[in-house]
Amino acid sequence: MRSQGKSGTKVGERTRLKRILRGLERRYGKIEPPPKRKGLPLIVATILSQNTTDLTAIRAYEALLERFPPARRSRPRRNLPRDSDGRIDKIKIRMVHVADARGEPNWRAIEKAPLSVVRNCLRVCGLAETKTRALRSLLKALRKETGGYSLERFLAGCDTDQALDKLSALPGIGVKTAAVTLAEGFGADLCPVDTHVHRVSGRLGVVSPSGGRNGTFRELRKILPPGTAHAFHHLFLSHGRAVCTARRPKCDSCPIRPDCERRGLEEV
Ligand code: SF4
Repeated sequence: MRSQGKSGTKVGERTRLKRILRGLERRYGKIEPPPKRKGLPLIVATILSQNTTDLTAIRAYEALLERFPPARRSRPRRNLPRDSDGRIDKIKIRMVHVADARGEPNWRAIEKAPLSVVRNCLRVCGLAETKTRALRSLLKALRKETGGYSLERFLAGCDTDQALDKLSALPGIGVKTAAVTLAEGFGADLCPVDTHVHRVSGRLGVVSPSGGRNGTFRELRKILPPGTAHAFHHLFLSHGRAVCTARRPKCDSCPIRPDCERRGLEEV
C-alpha cells in the first residue's frame, strides 16, 4: 500500500482516491449503479468468463442458450454496448451485459444433460471441464437447498461476508466470481478484482502489489470510499483495457498520471 510518508494521512489518501475516480469518470463516463438483475444468469456468465475474454465467454453463453433454450424465450431486456462502428465495444463490454441481453437457458435441462453435452457448449471459452463441473455443482446446490434455481433464495438472509463465503465454498467459484455476482446482482459495495483491476491498483500504489488478487480485493474493501466500489471496478477495468495495459501502458495520455506512483514501471 502507498506509504504514509508519500501519501500523507488517511484523509489525503481518500482525497487522492476521489480525484482518481473523477479523472476516470471524465475519461470513461460516470458509472451508474447496477440495475436489478437475476443472480443465476449473472454468476453463470461470470464463471464462463474465468480466464478468457468476455467476447469468448459470450459465445459459450449463447451456445448454452442454443442447446438448452428456455421454455418461453423472453425478449432481450438490454442491448450489448456498441462502439461507434456498431461493433461490440471491447472496452465497455462486461459479461453481466450478456445475462441482461440474452436471457436464461433452461437450467433444469442443463443440470440433467450428460456432462459431455454441456462441456461441448463451453469448449469455446476454455477450461470446459472445470467450468462444466462448476456450473453443474452450482445448479445442484441451488436445487437441493432452494427446491429450484434461485440464487436469491440461496443467499437469503446472508450479509455480504456470509454471501461471499457461501458462494466461494462452491467448486469452481472463487472470490472474484462471487464478488462480481454480489456487486452486479445484489447491490453489494464490492470492487471485484480481475487482472486489470489488480494491475491498475498496484501501479497506482493504492494497494500492496504483493498480496495477489485476493489481497488487492481485501485492501480495496478497506480503503475505497463507501459507495464507490462498483464504479472503481468498472473504471479500473476500462482503464486497464484501454490505457493502463499490461504491456506499454500509455502513461503520457493517462488522465490520472499525477496521482499515480507507476509502481513496477521504469521512470520515463
Ligand atoms: S500513469 Fe501509467 S501506470 Fe499509472 S495508471 Fe496511468 S497508465 Fe497506468
